[in-house]
Parts: sequence; C-alpha cells; structure tokens
Amino acid sequence: MRYSGFRVLWEGLTGNGGWKPAWRDPAPKAEYDVVIIGGGGHGLSTAYYLAKNHGITDVAVLEKGYLGGGNVGRNTTIVRANYFLPGNSEFYSHSLKLWEGLERELNYNVMHSQRGLINLFHSDGQRDAFVRRGNAMINRGDDAVLLDREGVRRLLPYLDFENTRFPIYGGLLHPRGGTARHDAVAWGYARAADARGVDLIQNCEVTGFDIRHGKVAGVRTTRGEIRARRVAIVVAGRSSQVAAMAGLRLPIESHILQAFVTEGLKPVIDHVVSFGMGHFYISQSDKGGLVFGLSLIHI
Ligand SMILES: Cc1cc2nc3c(=O)[nH]c(=O)nc-3n(C[C@H](O)[C@H](O)[C@H](O)COP(=O)(O)OP(=O)(O)OC[C@H]3O[C@@H](n4cnc5c(N)ncnc54)[C@H](O)[C@@H]3O)c2cc1C
Repeated sequence: MRYSGFRVLWEGLTGNGGWKPAWRDPAPKAEYDVVIIGGGGHGLSTAYYLAKNHGITDVAVLEKGYLGGGNVGRNTTIVRANYFLPGNSEFYSHSLKLWEGLERELNYNVMHSQRGLINLFHSDGQRDAFVRRGNAMINRGDDAVLLDREGVRRLLPYLDFENTRFPIYGGLLHPRGGTARHDAVAWGYARAADARGVDLIQNCEVTGFDIRHGKVAGVRTTRGEIRARRVAIVVAGRSSQVAAMAGLRLPIESHILQAFVTEGLKPVIDHVVSFGMGHFYISQSDKGGLVFGLSLIHI
C-alpha cells in the first residue's frame, strides 16, 4: 500500500477500513540465505539494501523484542555530518545524504527536520578546533558556518551569555543537521524490506550459533533452529555478547549513553544545541518535549 495525502483523505472518508498492517508476521522458515540478528535501524536497513541493491531477498531479520525497540527507538534523534576524522566523516556525510532522500525512498514519514545544529565553543583553543572541523566539513562538501558570540546570540537568545562558568565564545552551525524520528526510520525500513520479501521475525531471540567445521551454519533461537548461509550480527550494544556465543571476542566495549525528555512545552528551542565543555545537548521534539542527551565520553 502506498501512503499519501490522498490515501489519508480517502480512508478518512470511507471509515478507515482499508489500512493494512505495515509488514507481515511470518513464522520463521527452516533456512535462509541470510539471517540478520537485530531488528533495529541497522539490521532492517541491511535487509532492505541487500534486497534492493543486491537482489538478495531470502533474508530473515530476527529480533528478540519488537522491531525498533532497541537504541533506535530511544535515542535523541539527531542526524548530522559534522565529524572531523577521515573515515568517520565520509560515513556520516553519506548518511546525511541518505537521510535527505529517505522519506521519499521509503514512502514513510520519518519527521526529518533539518533545523540546524549548533556546537557551542567556550575558549580560543576550542574555536581553533571548530574552525578546523568546519573547514574539513566544507572540503568534504558538507555545510558549516562559524558564528561569533553575537551570531550565536541572534539564533539562541535564550542562552545565558553573562554569568556562566564556561562563557560562550561562539558556535559552529551545521545547517543541514537536525533531527529525525529514528523509530519511524526502523519501521520505514521494515515496511520496505517486507515489501521486497524479507521475513521480519519478532520475539525471536538468538541464543546460540550452529558452527560446523569452523563455519557458521545457522542460529539457535527461542523459536527453533534456523540454518543460514550467512549470518550478520547487528545488535549494537549487545555485539560483544552475541559474538561471544560464536566464540568471537570483539575488540570493542559498550558504553552507556543517557537521554531524558520533559513533558511537552511550548516551542522554545528551534535548533539542536550542543554544549562544548562536556557531552551534553538539547533539542525540542515536535510534541514539545525537551530532549536532552549526555554521556561521560564523547561519541
Ligand atoms: C540515549 C541515546 C541517545 C542517542 N542519540 C543519538 C542521536 O541523537 N543520533 C544518532 O544518530 N544516534 C544516537 N544514538 C545512537 C543510535 O541510537 C544507535 O547507534 C542506533 O540506534 C543503533 O541502531 P542498531 O540497529 O545498531 O541497534 P538497536 O536499535 O539497539 O537494535 C539492535 C537490536 O538487536 C536486538 N537484539 C539484541 N540481542 C539480540 C539477540 N540475541 N537476538 C535477537 N535480537 C537481539 C535488540 O533487541 C535490538 O532491537 C543514541 C543512543 C542512545 C542510547
């Protein structure tokens, strides 16, 4: 079913009887070409692009809870391409371009809002670092605007510029940065992958791997054993634990990132604003809640 304004109007006038579930609820088959563990944004988009770009549709996504119920459904919704280091920055630059065409591609409203993201800086040294970052962004083809203190004041007049422990020297504005509802992104990819024949299996936890002659031949799950020619682990913070079931020790560790959201308030914050002397940032959701994120490390 194609979603459109006309469809909403038509369904509204005819009793809303025509809406269909956004994806099927199939029982797992005994075997797939590819099994993807994890029904978050990355697992579902992997399934979608395997089907769309590579014609591989004999694919199952196995999710232990419900689709989009992991990190992707509880994050602070920021999308941006304001990274500095090579490798990392190209990755985000490409992703931001994908975000810009995603709603049309998936025929799904992910509430993508390019409201601009401002990184505040609080010292001369930090200004130098942000100038370098901004130049790197521009060289890569992304957008960056250096704001002095008055420039920040014009855009963010509600900030305290006077009696602060870390005075605001200026900011780096990334106009194409903003927010998007990541859980809707998961559902958009789920719907589009399902339409291309991918089986999305919820409430199906992978509990072990079937390894034969040193090669993964399938997975054990709470809904039975499933054979697979290829298995992808796409489980974010659970990566080390799931890989350990296959005897792999990954050279990574998971860290906690916290978010909190207030009750709905009148619109007060137009941008995404990031404090420069720690990992702390804020935006306002379309429902009005102030969305805060913070961690003890920089990501
Ligand atoms: C508080 C917070 C704020 C964040 N803010 C932002 C932000 O503003 N912008 C941004 O871009 N990113 C943000 N992130 C990061 C972003 O949310 C994640 O990088 C992204 O959602 C990860 O997607 P994923 O599909 O890899 O993982 P997830 O969405 O976590 O999906 C992994 C799935 O694997 C499933 N799973 C795990 N183990 C098993 C198993 N054994 N069997 C079957 N299924 C299993 C889980 O149930 C889960 O649904 C934030 C993260 C957090 C925690």
